[in-house]
Amino acid sequence: MNLLIIGAPGAGKGTMSELILNRYELVHVSTGDMLRAAVKNGTPVGLKAQGYMNRGELVPDEVIHDIIVERLSQDDVDAGFLFDGYPRTENQAVDLDEILKELDKKIDMVINLNIAEEELIKRITGRRLCPACGEIYNIYFNPPKEEGKCDKCGADLIQRKDDNLESLEVRLSEYHKNTQPVIEYYEKKDIVRHIDAAQAIEKVFEDISKELEGLCR
Ligand code: ADP
Ligand code: AMP
Repeated sequence: MNLLIIGAPGAGKGTMSELILNRYELVHVSTGDMLRAAVKNGTPVGLKAQGYMNRGELVPDEVIHDIIVERLSQDDVDAGFLFDGYPRTENQAVDLDEILKELDKKIDMVINLNIAEEELIKRITGRRLCPACGEIYNIYFNPPKEEGKCDKCGADLIQRKDDNLESLEVRLSEYHKNTQPVIEYYEKKDIVRHIDAAQAIEKVFEDISKELEGLCR
């Protein structure tokens, strides 16, 4: 089973990905996570991506193409994968189709997390992450038991550099201009499932689970 999860910044893609991966053995391919790791490690990809990411702009398609080809060349993806935050442009979606065709693979379902823009402000400004285990928190909606500490591993939580209002505005405009056409691209293939992402975390996951059960049947 090969899946794609799509939605505006803060819609809940990372949170839902973790819950999906607890239930299904899939490889999580998050271009955002891969790029942040590249920036942290100072790799050539990281150096190219850093400025765009800090401003909230999309990283150029060529850079994304290279990291995806590299990732999909690893054998573990044969078990099935979950793309998170990719493709973000129609050009990336067309490119992905070509890459997957070569590998004799296809996307089975696109999960679209729908949410109104005003809901995203607290999700983005309140987001905190564990740098050690990747757990995602929110100081308003999903706080850790002890302030600033990860429930799972005790590490100090961090805030993403681009999780501020200025960058959110740019990210939302990139989303409307470039990523919404991606949903229309997959609509034409009739594989999109729309999920109301404004509900509580458990309810959003329940709705996604129903769609996935339908796919596995
Ligand atoms: P994305 O990967 O789409 O940018 P995240 O999964 O990181 O989004 O979620 C963004 C923020 O919103 C996080 O702080 C997360 O804890 C919180 N969050 C995610 N889903 C929900 C939800 N259904 N209700 C309330 N808060 C949520
Ligand atoms: P995310 O973690 O998905 O919110 O992504 C964080 C940032 O990484 C985005 O604002 C972009 O700058 C960059 N990015 C992540 N995925 C992509 C992609 N598929 N295409 C272009 N830029 C991306």
